[in-house]
Amino acid sequence: MNKKSIQDIDLKGKKVIVRVDYNVPIKNGKISDNARIAASLPTIKHLLGQECAIILMSHLGRPDGEKKPEFSLQPTAVELSRLLGKPVAMAPDCVGPEVEKLALALKPGEILMLENVRYYKAEDDKKDKEGRKAFAKRLASLAQVYVNDAFGTAHREHASTANVAEFLPAVCGLLIQKELDYLGKAIEHPVRPLVAILGGAKVSDKIPVIENLLKKADKVIVGGGMAYTFYKAMGYEIGKSLCDMSLVDTCKNFLAEGAGKIVLPIDNKVAGDFDFKNMKLLTPLKTVLCSAIPADSEGLDIGEKSVELFRGIILSAKTIVWNGPMGVFECAETAKGTFAIAQAMAEATGKGAVTIIGGGDSASAVKDAGLVEKMTHVSTGGGASMEFLEGKTLPGISFLNDK
Ligand code: AMP
Repeated sequence: MNKKSIQDIDLKGKKVIVRVDYNVPIKNGKISDNARIAASLPTIKHLLGQECAIILMSHLGRPDGEKKPEFSLQPTAVELSRLLGKPVAMAPDCVGPEVEKLALALKPGEILMLENVRYYKAEDDKKDKEGRKAFAKRLASLAQVYVNDAFGTAHREHASTANVAEFLPAVCGLLIQKELDYLGKAIEHPVRPLVAILGGAKVSDKIPVIENLLKKADKVIVGGGMAYTFYKAMGYEIGKSLCDMSLVDTCKNFLAEGAGKIVLPIDNKVAGDFDFKNMKLLTPLKTVLCSAIPADSEGLDIGEKSVELFRGIILSAKTIVWNGPMGVFECAETAKGTFAIAQAMAEATGKGAVTIIGGGDSASAVKDAGLVEKMTHVSTGGGASMEFLEGKTLPGISFLNDK
């Protein structure tokens, strides 16, 4: 992607406002996973190296335009300070006279964390574009340059993720640059063969991804709950498995269009009953061929034969992109297929392939399997990486300055 990054412009001594994604899990004031804060460090360190005065902004949760203290970003400022080993000042708000005073007084090498931008409705008001722009202008007035490094929210056109770029020189940070380098290259200029692996529950969510990847990939593996609507389209009995009847014809078209390209599981782990609330099997798991799913059972994972088939395809690929689990990976017995795919991808990395995990559930599965370090890239954005795979333009990126 042809967008400028912080490495492309002169930032020496400038006051910079950076949109980070510090939407971290916080319980009783304690952060349980600081990965998103850690992911922003390369950009912050680069800016410190350029003697910038750094103003950070983010959202946290959904305070719905109200100043609710439980959505304060204060704990993230404390954590960032701990990680950097230097003070991070916390502002009482994200706009207004007091914030303006603090921003004005901020010196090179100092860091100021603004309060939650979603304390203001204008941040993400879909209906009021002018209100959003006016709010963005107030944020922009605090600095000389805008840096977007929040890939997790780059698919949203919000004031702080997109509209600020209309008022300042605007570039991406190193995290977004890395996402663009990996995801962009994998889809637009892959080393072939390019294999896409798609899974998850809802075929409806993945239609645009399948459409786009059928054009770009050499093989598209479809697993997880999604596979059963394809089975239905092929005329198989699918018992009580997930199925979206309204998309059976669409899947028929995909199968015709992608003949030889779409690969479905050849066997499945099925059970008569599964408790989705507590993620527990209520009856024993059985492995059956795709043509033999009993009418009283539902498919919950791919079987061993499918694992072998998918493994072979993965190990002969040069680029592999994965989005969506192969089964109900939240339960140990039905997580095996998903973990086996993660393992095969890790082996492919070892053989020199580029392996990319779209965010969300596949990223959690790779993390649960302890294989994050074995992948070329694990995306930090679930929704954002999905829209990227759909071939959509992400506002958080399209608003930035071209090279
Ligand atoms: P998605 O958000 O569409 O990527 O779906 C992720 C969810 O799909 C996970 O919570 C999995 O438990 C679920 N899932 C995967 N395979 C199946 C399946 N065969 N039946 C029901 N749910 C599934």
